[in-house]
Amino acid sequence: MKVKIRKKICSGLVAAAMMLTALPVNASAEMIEYSGNLPYSAKSAPFGKQGSERLTGAAKSYFDQTLQVCKDISEGKRTGTEFELTLTKKVSTSQLSEYWQEAVNALLYEYPEYSFWLLESEISAGYYSESRVVNASINLIPSGDYKGSKANTVDSAKIKAGAASIAKADKIAAKYEGKSDYEKIKGYCDEISALTDYNHEAIASMEGGNPWQMPWVFDGDPKTNVVCEGYAKAFYYLCKKGGVECFIVTGNMSGGGHMWNIAIVDGKSYLVDITNTDGFDENFEIEMDMPYMFLLKGGADSNEYGCTVTTPEKKVSWKEGSRSYTYTVSSSNVNYKYDENTRALYSKSLLTVSKSDYTVHTHKGEGEYKVNGSYHWKNCKTCGGVASFASHKFDGKGVCEKCGAKKK
Ligand SMILES: [Zn+2]
Ligand SMILES: [Zn+2]
Repeated sequence: MKVKIRKKICSGLVAAAMMLTALPVNASAEMIEYSGNLPYSAKSAPFGKQGSERLTGAAKSYFDQTLQVCKDISEGKRTGTEFELTLTKKVSTSQLSEYWQEAVNALLYEYPEYSFWLLESEISAGYYSESRVVNASINLIPSGDYKGSKANTVDSAKIKAGAASIAKADKIAAKYEGKSDYEKIKGYCDEISALTDYNHEAIASMEGGNPWQMPWVFDGDPKTNVVCEGYAKAFYYLCKKGGVECFIVTGNMSGGGHMWNIAIVDGKSYLVDITNTDGFDENFEIEMDMPYMFLLKGGADSNEYGCTVTTPEKKVSWKEGSRSYTYTVSSSNVNYKYDENTRALYSKSLLTVSKSDYTVHTHKGEGEYKVNGSYHWKNCKTCGGVASFASHKFDGKGVCEKCGAKKK
């Protein structure tokens, strides 16, 4: 029997709208044909700055201020959701709006652990003229799942429960300590698939709240399920805890709104879509797992706007109660397109994922050394990823014995 698997999409991402180091580097002089992980500080270096690292000036300041309030609320240190924004420099109303939006986007994509209660935000500004804002106050509006009894507050007991659920991710990440990035990513995928199923009811209501957040993934309750945002945030957070370089991205998947991830393994970026490893057979209405179907994928047409991923025809066995099913899942081409928020947050080189899927092999370096401030490496002749990675070893004249780079 052939079945078509419905791709899961979440139209209308719940964005907070504007009114709108390091593992030790082997110090020996020898190049390490490393197996396992690049030093953390080197993993994302070739891709440049991402997310909040790209913010400067007022946008960076608004980001820092808002993050602090979100962190305090998430940690139970405050319940009030309104605060006065300190304006660090003269801004017009449109600049205020623009910088604030940049700040909030970076916060939502980078800190799901501090924004799990947040539905949307409002900014009210006082100004003499549109070119001169005098003051600005922010209201971070909680979702219905976390609203307090008084206006502009969160419910501290509910916040505590949400944060406690997210904290369970620490134990999961700890189980994979010492494994390679690839093994960690596979493990996190298995864990999330086992913890949650797709929430078909939530997507019909589009109310926001827990089905779009991490607490309903990590709470251990099989009745609480999530949509794509919950999956993508949970995967990102496990990666963050486990030292795997990973990012949350949004846009369209085959035409519908969606959130998924980019992960870096051995110096290359790949697409990961955990939502779609939890399959659903429309004919029999059965939830089924399709392990690794959308794990570390590349696309031949990949560029900074997106890519098309090809999934191979695959036999999947699935047990439902006492019955066993075997499916052949058809091969499919799935198109992913980033939205503007995502393209503004990340570098083009990060967004341009690998041209081919990740394959397990021993990297073999070839050609000239590539050099940055701290390291030299060769690229793998099979996959183009990073091979033969090591820190410089400078001789008496300050020249690296291996790659010839000069000490700065
Ligand atoms: Zn390779
Ligand atoms: Zn060197």
